[in-house]
This record gives sequence, C-alpha cells and structure tokens, in this order.
Amino acid sequence: MTSTPTNRTTAERDIESLLHPYTNPIRHQEIGPLVIARGQGVRVFDDTGKDYIEGLAGLWCTALGWGEERLVAAAAEQMRTLPFYHLFGHKSHDPAIALGERLLALAPVPMARAFLTGSGSEANDTALKMIRYRANALGQPNKKKVIARDRAYHGVTIATSSLTGLAVNHRSFDLPDPAVLRAACPHYYRGGRPGESEEAFSTRLAEELEAMILAEGPETVAAFFAEPVMGAGGVVVPPADYFPKIQAVLDKYDILLVADEVICGFGRTGKMFGSETFGMRPDIMTMAKGLSSGYLPISALLINERVLAPIVAEAGRIGTFGHGYTYGGHPVSAAVAVETLKIYAERDILSHVAQVAPVLQDGLRGFANHPMVGEVRGIGLIAAVELVADKETKTPFDPSWGVGATLVARAQDHGLILRAMGDSIAFSPPLIITADEISEMLYRFALALADTAAWVAERR
Ligand code: PMP
Repeated sequence: MTSTPTNRTTAERDIESLLHPYTNPIRHQEIGPLVIARGQGVRVFDDTGKDYIEGLAGLWCTALGWGEERLVAAAAEQMRTLPFYHLFGHKSHDPAIALGERLLALAPVPMARAFLTGSGSEANDTALKMIRYRANALGQPNKKKVIARDRAYHGVTIATSSLTGLAVNHRSFDLPDPAVLRAACPHYYRGGRPGESEEAFSTRLAEELEAMILAEGPETVAAFFAEPVMGAGGVVVPPADYFPKIQAVLDKYDILLVADEVICGFGRTGKMFGSETFGMRPDIMTMAKGLSSGYLPISALLINERVLAPIVAEAGRIGTFGHGYTYGGHPVSAAVAVETLKIYAERDILSHVAQVAPVLQDGLRGFANHPMVGEVRGIGLIAAVELVADKETKTPFDPSWGVGATLVARAQDHGLILRAMGDSIAFSPPLIITADEISEMLYRFALALADTAAWVAERR
C-alpha cells in the first residue's frame, strides 16, 4: 500500500517522484536529496535551516545572488501587464525589443541582430541551424562541418550534445554525431608537452587546427565553437595568445567563430564578455545564465552581418525563417533580463568583480602548495582547484575513489556548495560576493580539503 503524501518525508517523496538530471539514480535512492528551501545574498538554506555559501552561483548563473527584489518586481509587473506573448509572424513586445537593443549595445564586436531563446542549449542549437541555413544561402552546401573542442560544454540537445566534448554526455546516447570535428582542449597543465612553453603550446594547437581543416578541406568547414573559459569541462583558462592564434586560422579559411558566453558572459571573467578578456572576434555569441541572473530561463544569440545577411536573403526567398521557440524571448524572462542588465550597469558589476577577484584568485592560489593540489587556475570570479594523487608527476587519483565528489560532500557538511568535474573543484560564486564572504568560502573550503586529505591518507 502506498502511503499518503502527508506521512512521507520530503526525501521519500523526492525519490519516488523525480528522476534527477546529472545524478546517479541508484546512489540518489540511498542518500536522497539536499532540499534547498530559500536563499538570501550568496547563501542558500536547506529545509532544516542550515546555511550554505553557494560557491557555484547555482549552476554558474545566479550572478546577483538570491533575494534581489528588483528582479521580483520586474517579473511581477510584467506578469500583470503581459504574461505571455511571442515574436512569431511579425509580433513583438517591449521587453524583447529593449533586451535586443541592450545586448547589441553591450556586444564587444559589431553585431547586427539578437535572436532570443530559452536556454543555453537552445541558443547553441539555434547557432548550428543558422550555420547550416547560411551555408545553403551562400550556395556552399558542403561547408557545414563544425569544430568543437575536447572537454567543451555547449548543451545537451541531440545536436549540442555532439558539440559537447565530454564522454558522459555521449555514452549510451549513441552520440556524438561524427560530423562534429574535435579539436584539442587548451589546458596547458594537462596538454602541454615537457619543455613546451605556453606560447609554443598555443602555436601547436593552432597548427593542429589548421592541419585538421586542411585534411577535411576548408570548403567543408563552417564554424568553430568555443567557450572563452571552458566551464563544465573543468574551468580551463586558455593561454593568453591561444585565441588570437586560433582566430587567425579561422580567418584564413573563412570559418565562423561562435563564442559560447553562456558562463563567461556578463562579467564572470572580469570583462563584460569572455570574448573581450581573451581577444576573440566572434561572428555569433550565445549567452544565458547571467543574462537573467538565473531568475528565469532565457538565452540569446547575437549574430553579425556576415551571418545575418545570407539568412535574411534565404528566409525572404523561402517566405519565412522557419525556426523559433514558443518561449523564445518570453516577456517575463525578457523583462527580468533587462532589469538584470540595468542592475549590472548601475552597480558597476565589472568594478566590483575587479575588486574582489584577487581575493578569490590569490586565496585559492594559497592552496597551491598543498600536497594534493595539482593546479589552481582561474580568472575573474571563476576558478578551479585540481586535485592529484602525485603532485610531481601530475598523476590523477583513481577515478573510482571519487576524490572530487568526496571533497564536495565534505564542503557541503561545512556549509559550502561547490561542484566537482572529476577531481577539479569549480568555484563560480555570485558576482555580488564580498571580500569577507570569499574569505569565509575559502575557510570552509580549507576545512573540506583537510577532511578529504585525511580520508585519502586513510585509504592509501
Ligand atoms: N554552454 C555552456 C558554456 C554551458 O555552461 C551550458 C550549461 N552549463 C550550456 C551551454 C547549456 O545551457 P543549458 O543548460 O541552459 O541548456
């Protein structure tokens, strides 16, 4: 006999009702959920009242932290005025127009139009479709291959999963699509050869990219997708000259650059967009997360004239641009995004990030001498600490030990939510975090690292 909802615990109800994304369902039945009940500032509180510093801003998104009343008010007002409308068939609404204008004004390179979507995956999926459409419009039907990098994360739709370069997103899904070409990940610590300088590493990656393009035939390669800093792949900060060298190769063979700014956009790396931080000149930019501070789902693409003009010509000829989502540019989400962008400007979020980023970056580098820490990397308010079994040889821990996951569990005990990508521990706190809150976060991390070191020592 099944019990009634009233006499079951929240954990039981969760286990019996939800299949969780990115979760081991068998382990979930054993340990149950951490139920988050509310949030304020950089902290969230579980259903027992215990507080946690949210070291990852949820999923790298809640830039303004929790409890930002201006976003609540913007949503409520828009809900009352026009809770739904769409942009299909010549319709429009003010929040979408205002958002398009603001995004075009913020773009670090000249962009011609914004296209509004609902999630990071949808934005990148739309970029893929625009790339195909453009190739057909230009009479280049064979120029449709796209390149993405090992350890990239661009989403989980059928198409964007193939751009994503992580095995867990492919295994048992019959992915990736072999039409996606794979380039190397610009992680010098892991990919640099003995004696190779960072600059030589970047040069080699650009040469390898060029060799791949030539082997495939430049007339078949349409675009290169890249996150400025790779997020879910383990927070990979490229060497300073990596993107300029890659950009030169793309320019040489008329290959579009798609900058996936879903994590890096809106100040995360210290500039408004990661493309500015790393010297990228994208033709398409995709963005989400910080766009609405995660308060409502919304994403966007900015496309330049090179992309727009052929699409306009082709769609004009066919009679319509046959693509769009019911909720693309949803008025309530768009109103919240506009308010979010206003707040970033009014509070000069970039200056704030410039002020507090050294507290995070220098603080984490303070752990670099720890025997289990292989590398500390990061820029702005995004960072990772990579744990290793042997510091000298950079030998990773046996993945079956789950050292990264153990550290994250210990951090949770100490009131800090972090995320492990393998044994790389990611930090991406709300951008509003103060220096004192960063210090507290680092203290809680130190406790978790010490606990994990003791646990490892026992197992050895
Ligand atoms: N691109 C990047 C760089 C991301 O980090 C993510 C999500 N973590 C996505 C795309 C996909 O976004 P979504 O989960 O909203 O589909």
